[in-house]
Amino acid sequence: TTEPETQQPIPDLPDSVEFVAVQWIDVHGSPKAKLVPRAAVPGLVEPGGGAGFAAFANHGFARGPEHPEFLAVPDMSTLVTLPHRPEIAVAMSTVMDGDAVATCDARSILKRVQEEAADEGLLPIVGMEPEFFLLRRTETGELAPYDTNDGLDKPCYDLGALLRGSHVLRDIVSTMQALDWQVSAVDHEDGNGQYEINFTHADALTTADRYTMLRSIIADIAGAHGAIASFMPKPLSGRTGSGAHVHMSALDQDGDNAFADEDDPRGLGLSPVAYSFIAGVLDHAGALAALTMPTVNSYRRVQAATTTSGATWAPNAVVYGANNRTTMLRIPGTGRFENRGVDSSCNPYLALAAIVTAGLDGVRRGLDPGAPIDGPASGIGVPLLPRTLADALDALEMDTVLRDGLGEEAMCEFVAVKRHEWASYMSAVSAWEVETYLTRT
Ligand code: GLU
Ligand code: MG
Ligand code: MG
Repeated sequence: TTEPETQQPIPDLPDSVEFVAVQWIDVHGSPKAKLVPRAAVPGLVEPGGGAGFAAFANHGFARGPEHPEFLAVPDMSTLVTLPHRPEIAVAMSTVMDGDAVATCDARSILKRVQEEAADEGLLPIVGMEPEFFLLRRTETGELAPYDTNDGLDKPCYDLGALLRGSHVLRDIVSTMQALDWQVSAVDHEDGNGQYEINFTHADALTTADRYTMLRSIIADIAGAHGAIASFMPKPLSGRTGSGAHVHMSALDQDGDNAFADEDDPRGLGLSPVAYSFIAGVLDHAGALAALTMPTVNSYRRVQAATTTSGATWAPNAVVYGANNRTTMLRIPGTGRFENRGVDSSCNPYLALAAIVTAGLDGVRRGLDPGAPIDGPASGIGVPLLPRTLADALDALEMDTVLRDGLGEEAMCEFVAVKRHEWASYMSAVSAWEVETYLTRT
């Protein structure tokens, strides 16, 4: 695929803006950018304009150091001024490898998958639930919750922590509100020092853009307050981890929710197409995990059965249920499902592209997920998520539907990067192992 070399209008920048950050995304979902001074912005929008970068300098672009520079071509319709740093406006880009869109450009992959779904009459609508920890270093250098409720059993919804953290939370939320993301709630989560900020849903690409920007905004604002924001799925042993639950529905060609059906015989308010989509997500769960829970640490979040407060809320049971938090997929209300098998370390572009690809496969094959699971889904003999990143990568290597949907070269490169991460992890002997085995005779 090639992008036409079009001349975009020169953007009308607010007076405060000194730089446009031309942003692209690496394989981990981390935003990368070049700052272009205001005076040089007209050159950005000319044919051939953009920010050149060495692909090999970032993870996951499948090009060696000998390869010519890539070009991040900004889409000025995505330009937003950062409310907390009004001197910077960010524009999302399409990454070009010569005349072609780079095969590993995660944002272009999601854009393409979203367009393909819309062409089939299902425009995915996505809400993501950002969970994260605010941490600090103790005098001895250890990580501890930023809040002082460390050790509080069942800290979920702790008002005291919200009050004590309000100076940080207020700055984050006011930034989100200025971006018109319509924040609906902030809570203290089930891990000490863990928070969640809920904001509105949108098409998959817009939500991926926002989730990406939100992680860096939270880290930036937390840092300014002397806190460490962590999106690591399980930063503290024995406490719940951070999910990035994905809520999904889909608009049909008339703009109605294709997943909603009042007359659902199963009483969940879902349509046959929604059930098939859900069945597709469950059918590809093993391979999906590699993309929705893509780090070594991810599998600690979905494996530990209990924490100090009693539950992980991150089920590994590959089934669906009504308003049941022990199943991977939950139906929290009519016309949508929640995928709890997604964590805060994901590349949201790849995660959402993969979920949509899996769901569409279920629709094309007319799959049915069977009856929902009532009651606890653990220990009842249902399929489970992979236990490690390595197992998830094995599943992804076998899954031709996801590989074709997201692109063979991108998936090869993703697996290669992640195999390297796994090998690096396996080569490091942990403190737990030394403590457990060193002096055993
Ligand atoms: N923190 C939990 C997770 O890792 C989710 C808690 C909740 O249901 O909000 O998925
Ligand atoms: Mg939550
Ligand atoms: Mg949730």
